[in-house]
Amino acid sequence: MTTELTFFGFEREAARFDRWSDCLRQVLAAGALHSSGSPFTEDLEHDFAAWLGRRHVVAVSSGTEALRLGLEVLDLPPGEVLVPAFTFQASVAAIVRCGLTPRFVDISPDTLQVDPAAVRAAVTADTVGILPVHLFGIPAPMTELTAIAEEHGLAVLEDCAQSVGAAVRGRKVGTFGAVAAFSCGPTKPLGGLGEGGLVAVNEPACDAHLRRARHNGALRDFRHELVGANAMMDSLQAAFLGRRLTELDDQLKLRRTAVERYEQRIADVPGVSVVRARPDDLAAPSKFTVLLPDSVDRERLVEVLTGRGVPTNVYYRVPQHRQECFAAYARDPLPVTEHAAAHALSLPLHPYLTDQEVDHIAGEFATAVREVRA
Ligand SMILES: *Cc1c(COP(=O)(O)O)cnc(C)c1O
Repeated sequence: MTTELTFFGFEREAARFDRWSDCLRQVLAAGALHSSGSPFTEDLEHDFAAWLGRRHVVAVSSGTEALRLGLEVLDLPPGEVLVPAFTFQASVAAIVRCGLTPRFVDISPDTLQVDPAAVRAAVTADTVGILPVHLFGIPAPMTELTAIAEEHGLAVLEDCAQSVGAAVRGRKVGTFGAVAAFSCGPTKPLGGLGEGGLVAVNEPACDAHLRRARHNGALRDFRHELVGANAMMDSLQAAFLGRRLTELDDQLKLRRTAVERYEQRIADVPGVSVVRARPDDLAAPSKFTVLLPDSVDRERLVEVLTGRGVPTNVYYRVPQHRQECFAAYARDPLPVTEHAAAHALSLPLHPYLTDQEVDHIAGEFATAVREVRA
């Protein structure tokens, strides 16, 4: 290996300095530093809406705020929102921050996405919504979830933070729910050089609310029609993201190619299974995640790999129902979630990984698994 391996490959952006400095030059030349009314933000919203196939997109400061504002705009009555515990904190925090109650549901063992049977079983008279998360770039089972939501009159907010470009039977995630939230944080496939998020809606009234809510409640002229936050996306970040969007489909292809290569290279490592999408679905891999067998001590494996220059990450060691801040909402047993939290391991994945690097990582992984096996 000539270059050091990192998990996200951020340092590889340095080789594209000219591309990014060109964006900075454009923003400065246009005198468009202010987020409010930035043509770069408007272009990004327009282009992303066209790419996704939704009527309105509103750019915000992060995926976390995209989720919170996306749930706020649904204006749900008090009640429970069904959400997987095997996710990042922000999916659940949005529910609590909107004054609603999270009700954790278990996931399916093969895809690690929310289990439709568990969702159906958790619906009560108190249920007001479903917040499916498309985790690791793998689509949640939207056909089944949409049917349950329609049957019971539930709102659906999709957390697409990790899965921009994934599709269920040819239909992109983020086009199923009334609202969809995306993250443009640097670790995400549509990542900028800093923080950002996007909210997609179809209703003009939702679009109008979101534009005020992200801008201290005012659309213009210091006329504050509601109590809002400063949750705007930087103009500069919008310019970067506009560029990133033009290369997103190509970068997703590179990610898929790397994942296929990983799968071939580790296919014969006994007991290790790859977390993947259902056959009719298309993944947009943001993470390459495997499940280790009981016989492999994950912490030791991580130590060995780190020692050999192979970075790894664990998504998620502590699922949300076991987090201190959500302890009050822990209720039902979630055996599949617990199993995933104890056995999942993610290997480096980004569009700049070379074939040789994938082979090297997969080789080190296979060797290390054999070594630490009990
Ligand atoms: C990253 C992430 C978020 C939050 O996005 P930020 O842009 O980091 O605020 C929400 N949900 C999931 C599943 C994520 O991975």
